Amino acid sequence: MPRHYNIPVFLPELACPHRCVFCNQSSISSTYKIPSVAEVTAIIEKHFNSFKASEKHVELAFFGGNFTGLPQQMQLEYLNHVQPWLKSGQLQGIRLSTRPDYISSAQIAWLKDFGVTHIELGAQSTDNEVLQKSGRGHKRDAIENAATIINNAGLVLGLQMMLGLPGDSPEKAVATAKDIISFGAKETRIYPCLVVQDTALERLFLSGKYQPLSIQVAAEQAASLYVIFENAGIKVLRIGLHTSDDLNGSALIAGPYHPNFAEMVFGKIWLSAFETYDQWPESETIVVKTAASQLNHAVGFEASNKNRLLKRFKSVKFMPDSSLFGRQFIVQKL
Ligand code: SF4
Repeated sequence: MPRHYNIPVFLPELACPHRCVFCNQSSISSTYKIPSVAEVTAIIEKHFNSFKASEKHVELAFFGGNFTGLPQQMQLEYLNHVQPWLKSGQLQGIRLSTRPDYISSAQIAWLKDFGVTHIELGAQSTDNEVLQKSGRGHKRDAIENAATIINNAGLVLGLQMMLGLPGDSPEKAVATAKDIISFGAKETRIYPCLVVQDTALERLFLSGKYQPLSIQVAAEQAASLYVIFENAGIKVLRIGLHTSDDLNGSALIAGPYHPNFAEMVFGKIWLSAFETYDQWPESETIVVKTAASQLNHAVGFEASNKNRLLKRFKSVKFMPDSSLFGRQFIVQKL
């Protein structure tokens, strides 16, 4: 199986007319310069030089801003520039991110002609009240329409969602996940909403009108959503922000940020499996066997699941078992 690589090219928003409450676009665009085509070449070559696998599937990812909101001449310049790598077969596709209301059938048709294969939309929520309170500037139907256009064109659709936006609730987050599935997305990303400096959300937070999710609640919500997506066969490309780089240099004021957020989420998924398990042996010492790839998640972030089991059993051991797949597990007396 070829190894999958993405070559990320960060395009800051140039002059977004929207005012999403969580976005600090003005500080991002004053900190980051939009790359020249020469810089795009340098980024691509640097990545190709670092790829180890001989069999690989490489996609170029224009992310950060709203690609289809850039002046069309600029979109064409970037897309024309990367054609040689597509024609030579070094690049297998292009993915880009944009807003749902920046999608039209005509535009998707020419993006496809230029080798665009994946489009990710920042849906954030499909609840009209949440969208309105978050200043997104579009409603649920814009997401549904854009999804239909992208699916009809045969491109891979990704819909990203955010947790804990103003007016959001666990029920609305689940409804958003179900909409993402029914709109035909193949991929998603789950981001908890953070309060960063120089945003409307910062002002709401400081005036007591907005309360971010706690890290525990955000991880629990993300865990439930991950399972919903997993059961529907939707690839979760990312859970939470991985490094402080994702904050694009802005100061985090409040909210559920943790560098190991995804690990916390996977630990929560295992915790709920343990909580619903009803065949615990009558023994003081147990061993829990899982697939090797799941062992750390089963133990939990900072051994939280193991510590929970230690309240019930005197000794708990976790061991890998090569006969197990996914989140299968076996509990035995020691
Ligand atoms: S998050 Fe909203 S305000 Fe920020 S760049 Fe995207 S559309 Fe514009």
